Amino acid sequence: MKKTLFSLAPLALILMGCSEPEPTDKKSIENYELVAEAEQRLDIYTPYQLKTDLSHLSDDQKKMVSLLIDASEIMDNLFWQQAFPGNKESLLSSVEGDVREFTAINYGPWDRLNNNKPFLTGFEEKPEGANFYPADMSKTEFENADLADKDSLYTLLRRDEQDELITVPYSEAFKDSLTRASDILLEAADLAESQAFAKYLRLRAEAFLSNEYQPSDMAWMEMTDNDVDVVIGPIENYEDHLYGYKTAFESYVLIKDKAWSERLAKYAEYLPQLQEGLPVEPAYKAEMPGANAQLNAYDAVYYAGHSNAGSKTIAINLPNDEEVQLEKGTRRLQLKNAMQAKFDKILVPIAEQLIVPEQRENITFNAFFANTMFHEVAHGLGIKNTLNDKGTVRSALKEHASALEEGKADILGLYMVTQLFEQGVLAEGELEDYYTTFMASIFRSVRFGASSAHGKANMIRFNYFADEGAFKRNEKGQYAIDMDKMRAAMNSLSEKILTLQGDGDYNGVAELVATLGVVSPQLKADLDKLADAGIPVDVTFKQGKEVLGL
Ligand SMILES: [Zn+2]
Repeated sequence: MKKTLFSLAPLALILMGCSEPEPTDKKSIENYELVAEAEQRLDIYTPYQLKTDLSHLSDDQKKMVSLLIDASEIMDNLFWQQAFPGNKESLLSSVEGDVREFTAINYGPWDRLNNNKPFLTGFEEKPEGANFYPADMSKTEFENADLADKDSLYTLLRRDEQDELITVPYSEAFKDSLTRASDILLEAADLAESQAFAKYLRLRAEAFLSNEYQPSDMAWMEMTDNDVDVVIGPIENYEDHLYGYKTAFESYVLIKDKAWSERLAKYAEYLPQLQEGLPVEPAYKAEMPGANAQLNAYDAVYYAGHSNAGSKTIAINLPNDEEVQLEKGTRRLQLKNAMQAKFDKILVPIAEQLIVPEQRENITFNAFFANTMFHEVAHGLGIKNTLNDKGTVRSALKEHASALEEGKADILGLYMVTQLFEQGVLAEGELEDYYTTFMASIFRSVRFGASSAHGKANMIRFNYFADEGAFKRNEKGQYAIDMDKMRAAMNSLSEKILTLQGDGDYNGVAELVATLGVVSPQLKADLDKLADAGIPVDVTFKQGKEVLGL
């Protein structure tokens, strides 16, 4: 067992007391044990200190960052309530040390990077709908329920006294916490130096109370001059494995990196041309996303809630609201310090195990950064609405929408890199760097498991590439890229995904996921090799005011 510092909750202290605890003491409290197979999972995360230089910020701006961290902590607690249908405090105080830490990283007793398998005794499978829906609700019951806002991004499903399904808006279900968060954002707004940022914070504060997030999403799109940013509220729908409707509370507190942002700004002007060049029939690329596409680099200083659960996001593309996207475009935020952590601690060691020695020099941070950046750009391309009156792609593809959207962004990101490299816009390195680093990244992401949209998307792509001969595996279990075949596979997979999305072809996607969204025994063996070599699956952040010196 690795040594960890941890603080014991009072309840655990009683149990741990120097005198032998009486058996009766234990009876009153539920005690959870680590399931045997989970022992080897405890060190899959490697710690990383999340910090950055704040010296260019005024005292008011530093105070504002502190307040944003306070509000983020509220989001963290709200996410616990959405993810885990029990009591957070009693769960955490029933376990200790590494197990407690692992429980906290997972926001519950289910291993997020192992298909949500329970790792504590006494827990069943995680409900598909997390705690957004009653655990005993069937899909048929949901579909038959005559409730106007049942598929809202911002409601919970609950039962009334007659056991009938009802909807409860987040603003009511979490009223006390959201009121506190709202007050903190208003206080932060008064300190903001950027008026556009202050406006966003005030509208976000209002959204917590009104349950209407669109005005604040619009305001977030209008900011350009702020050094500090915060992504906060109910945002991503990945936690809802039942329908992909419900959004999870999260937060990122971010400090803009101006030098890198300038470097990124020049790519935005190529977006219309890239959309036009997508390898698919014209009808599937007819939408023109807003030209107001901002691309910026940040150092993250705080992750909370969904963004801090399990694997950590290294780039963000928001807002998700399709109406805002069509009117204003999206913003892509590259989280540079988080990216560097993953490159150094995970990607390079993976390449040393699984990529043939002669291609390892093609693994570069520059390529990793570019691939990740263009993944985010690619979310803004393609199509948001189906071509055949099935509504938005997201609603037509339901629980498969996220995995397919992530798969689209990955593959179209590489497509764009290829285009821009050949036009001389991307000038660094060789095209082989981007392809080889992309391949190594698939191994990194497949380790996130099938319960994550990103993990599933990577499994589909790995198996698709294998079928198309995009790589060869030698007898040592090392992979070599075939540039020509990988390029052909990239084009045909792009076309396939864009077509499935445009057609809103739920059954087609379900089949793709069922046939290709799986880990073959050979891949499993290769991934086990990474675990045996002690390569962490992901990072966990040591973060907060103290780390930042606030
Ligand atoms: Zn993505």
